[in-house]
Amino acid sequence: MFDKILIANRGEIALRVLRACKELGIATVAVHSTADADAMHVRLADESVCIGPPPSKESYLNIPALLAACEITGAEAVHPGYGFLSENARFAEILAEHNLGFIGPKAEHIRLMGDKIEAKKTARRLGIPVVPGSDGAVGPSDDAMAIAREIGFPVLVKAAAGGGGRGMKIAHRPDDLALALSTAATEAKSAFGDASVYLEKYLQKPRHIEIQVLGDGRGGAIHLGERDCSLQRRHQKVWEESPSPALDAAARARIGETVAKAMQEMQYLGVGTIEFLYEDGEFYFIEMNTRIQVEHPVTEMITGIDLVLEQIRIAAGGDLPVTQDQVVVNGHAIECRINAENPETFRPSPGKILQYHPPGGLGVRIDSAVYQGYVIPPYYDSLVGKLIVHGKTRAECLMRLRRALDEMVVDGIETTLPLFRALVRDHDIIDGDYHIHWLEHYLSGKVD
Ligand code: ADP
Repeated sequence: MFDKILIANRGEIALRVLRACKELGIATVAVHSTADADAMHVRLADESVCIGPPPSKESYLNIPALLAACEITGAEAVHPGYGFLSENARFAEILAEHNLGFIGPKAEHIRLMGDKIEAKKTARRLGIPVVPGSDGAVGPSDDAMAIAREIGFPVLVKAAAGGGGRGMKIAHRPDDLALALSTAATEAKSAFGDASVYLEKYLQKPRHIEIQVLGDGRGGAIHLGERDCSLQRRHQKVWEESPSPALDAAARARIGETVAKAMQEMQYLGVGTIEFLYEDGEFYFIEMNTRIQVEHPVTEMITGIDLVLEQIRIAAGGDLPVTQDQVVVNGHAIECRINAENPETFRPSPGKILQYHPPGGLGVRIDSAVYQGYVIPPYYDSLVGKLIVHGKTRAECLMRLRRALDEMVVDGIETTLPLFRALVRDHDIIDGDYHIHWLEHYLSGKVD
């Protein structure tokens, strides 16, 4: 096991990793930008190092500064959290070149899954069902129209290097295709430095269902069930739950087994998530995330498995904590991502938190790094915290969530709490009857 870990992240996930380290008796090093000098992860870590000014490029993404921080503190391994350098294969390699551990998958798997076209090819090869689409990137010499007609309109133009819902454009009709291709390529070039795009069938009312996996890197791999992340705004998840209200035991077992088998064959190491769209009883792979995800607590609440702790153990050469047969799903969990944003316009609302009262009680968990008097800086994401609620059934979970949301106080800034208080009382949500476009329709006042 490692003696000391450097956490190359900030906010709630830095705190989440720190908690796992404390439980394992591992010393922690926090890194921070000058904007985060007062942050909770800095206060709670055993040591901290300032790695640069507020812009992420000069601090949290600054590899030489992170290497120097490891060197100064004697950290043996780096946990990247999510975002920032978590899916940067080169970073994992550089750490290895400096005899430092990377708490994440093998660099080759990060690279493979980071290219969505290669990821889809790999998925198909491993027997995972994929969304119908172009076989590879659609370049200027390809007849994009012929490919799109073969797939059938509407089609979605997606960036090969995509992430965070960027570089994605819908072409409803043949007339829209040229513009969708050029705007997606331009957006992809500026966001990711890679203009390659591909085509996919645009599914009309699918659910987003993802499978959590855990692999030992030596051919052992298990799945920990699904998360339903269909409530999204601008392709960003807002609410996640498990089990999915849309899956029956047979569909769950079928996709779980397919994915676990694929991960065994890949010899996947660490935690990962295989994302699917699910429509009319069929699963369609869209991508794989080779890191811990924001919504991981949902799975922790129903399986009792501490994913971050196991991720660290596995990175240190440990075995899987349980066999597939020992994975037991218990009850239901829902996570709400509460952001510092206006609940109607979604304009970011950074600033000072004047009053803060997190809810408590049985089955209620808050993963957050804020406190009363904390100033949310304008430079990073606007997550205030994640409220995760567990119940024996979905109905009990909703009942508790309603109560917890009413109890929570975050004053001084605008938050999306009012949106969640409305959602938890909505009939479609109560019935579990929603798909990936539901929230956008709801927000524009036309739920069907
Ligand atoms: P990113 O990496 O940018 O998050 P994903 O491929 O994971 O991109 O897709 C994000 C979201 O975009 C999905 O959860 C879904 O809501 C929507 N989406 C992606 N592919 C399709 C598709 N073929 N049809 C309809 N919606 C899609």
